Amino acid sequence: MVRGMYRSRSLKRKQVRIPSGTSVIHYKRKMTSKHKCAECGTQLGGIPRGTPNQIGKTSKSERTVSRPYGGYLCASCLKKKIRNEVRAEMNQ
Ligand SMILES: [Zn+2]
Repeated sequence: MVRGMYRSRSLKRKQVRIPSGTSVIHYKRKMTSKHKCAECGTQLGGIPRGTPNQIGKTSKSERTVSRPYGGYLCASCLKKKIRNEVRAEMNQ
C-alpha cells in the first residue's frame, strides 16, 4: 500500500517504465484552472496558471495586470464599466 497522500485523487497519475523494466506510477499535482473574467467569463490574459507554490515564486508584476480590476475583469468589460459609470454621473 502506498503512502496516504498518494491515495488522493487530487494528484494526477502517470505510468512510467523505469530502466530496470518495471513500471511505476509517478504522481503529479493537477494543473489549476484558467483565470476568468468575473463578468463575461472569458480567459484573462497576462495571469499565469500554476500551483500556489509556482505562483509564489513569480514577482507581483508577473502575477497580475497593472490596471484597476486587473486580474478580475477583462479589458473590454472594464471599458464598459468605466463608460457606464461616467454616463451615470453625467445624468445626475
Ligand atoms: Zn469580461
